[in-house]
Amino acid sequence: MNPLQRPDDLVPETPGSLSLRALWHDGTPAERWRVLGGWTLTVAACLLLGLATVRRGWSGIPLDLGGATAFLTFYPPIPLCLWWTLCFGWRWGALPAWLATFVLALDAGMPPAWAAIFACANPLGFAVMALGYRAVGAARGLRSLRAWLFFLPLCFVAAVFSSAGALLWTFSRHLSAQEQLPIWQGWWLGAFLQSAVFGGALMTLTWPRLSRWIVARPTLFSPPPRGRRAMGLGLLFAIVLAVQAYGLVSLGLGSLQLREALHSGEWARLEEAARVMVSTAWVFFWVFVLIVLFVAQFGYQALARWLRSTEALVTQLAKVNAELEQRSRTDGLTGLANRMATEEGLRALLRTVRRYRTPAALLMLDIDHFKQVNDRHGHAAGDVVIRALARALKDTSRDVDLPGRFGGEEFVVGLAHTDLEGARHFAERLRERIAAAPVEIPGGAPVTYTVSIGVTVMREDDAGIEDSLRRADAAMYRAKQGGRDRVELDAAAPGTATMPGAAGKS
Ligand code: GH3
Ligand code: MG
Ligand code: MG
Repeated sequence: MNPLQRPDDLVPETPGSLSLRALWHDGTPAERWRVLGGWTLTVAACLLLGLATVRRGWSGIPLDLGGATAFLTFYPPIPLCLWWTLCFGWRWGALPAWLATFVLALDAGMPPAWAAIFACANPLGFAVMALGYRAVGAARGLRSLRAWLFFLPLCFVAAVFSSAGALLWTFSRHLSAQEQLPIWQGWWLGAFLQSAVFGGALMTLTWPRLSRWIVARPTLFSPPPRGRRAMGLGLLFAIVLAVQAYGLVSLGLGSLQLREALHSGEWARLEEAARVMVSTAWVFFWVFVLIVLFVAQFGYQALARWLRSTEALVTQLAKVNAELEQRSRTDGLTGLANRMATEEGLRALLRTVRRYRTPAALLMLDIDHFKQVNDRHGHAAGDVVIRALARALKDTSRDVDLPGRFGGEEFVVGLAHTDLEGARHFAERLRERIAAAPVEIPGGAPVTYTVSIGVTVMREDDAGIEDSLRRADAAMYRAKQGGRDRVELDAAAPGTATMPGAAGKS
């Protein structure tokens, strides 16, 4: 591993969860021991510490919230199970949390059915936490401000969800609004602080080593889930729901308390209730502000991610398009321009001839007795010869020239800034080179072959490239007629008359 890379960079962005089956089948005995032993210890610790919290009265630490008192809940299973949720998946954290709370509620005398529902409160909070990380894939190592800016608000949302437990608790005990509000506020605040402080510390301390293990053992984890967009929407929905529930419960309980005080007619109680209401409203305001900031940040991250992936997609598409375009213009056997691309090039060449009055020439080549090459040496050898000819064309042409395969064993070369005489030289050089270089055939005897070449020039008054192609073809036909392995010039081309010896072998 590159030592400069942080473990967070290596762990898949979207967490998968540890599969018990994979751990059992593919894990080493040490891995099984550590994970399952650690988890069993966690279950035991949650049960014991949870019971101790209630029996020894560790819970309900009074905290002054600017006038109102909240009874801060201290509950060790929260950070422990949060750690399991974030590192290994929701089930690993939810189960011990549920068990501990269920036993604790039974111990406190809650009816079993109520206890079973009551115990779902913390797993519900962890589910929101897991959903958040799955939807956004923020760094779990908490070693950057950005990672904390995601972790903290999510802790709050999860805490609000898990504080449903407080409502169930107070409801099952028929407590008044005056008693309910501080318990509920202490509950979510306690859950939030414990997740943030102890859970955050656990993650920060253990993640570097743990993430290295996760990266090294990908088969033990279920693949990251798909459908991130749906999860992102789910998370937003959960956040909105949490804020609404939070506002409804805190302001609802506050006003209930106010109403109870009004009915009692006691001035001191009314004053107290008003103070609680005001502080509750302010806490709600700040929570609201923070959550709006979080949603904005979350939206920004989602948008940035979406833009990045769209950009990557567009770049990839452009690359594939360019490749396709290149392929559609290239002859597969020789890598030369195919007929369509050659014709396009020739059209452009004719335009420069018309516009700048510069000369341009056109060669047409055909391999002599190619059928015999195929018949004697086989079709594969024929292909090798065609490729060798293409190589010779590329090697003899300049950058500005346009060699192309016109079809079968027929080739065309457009020569920019070249008059008939120059084209004749070029054609001769090519013909000699081809005739003098037998083609090596893998696993066979070398093949000697020749070409016949017709040469013409492009004329300003040509109606299109078809005119010059026809003239070059006619010249080539004459080269064939004249015995092959020859260069013939277009008889009608200007300057042909002045070169009586130009045609034929030189
Ligand atoms: P000529 O000198 O009159 O041109 O005689 P030729 O035998 O070359 O006649 P022609 O040009 O008509 O022959 C074309 C032959 O080229 C026919 C075809 O089998 C062969 N051919 C066309 N394309 C390919 C190819 O891609 N690979 C191979 N191996 N042969 C091809
Ligand atoms: Mg031929
Ligand atoms: Mg032919």
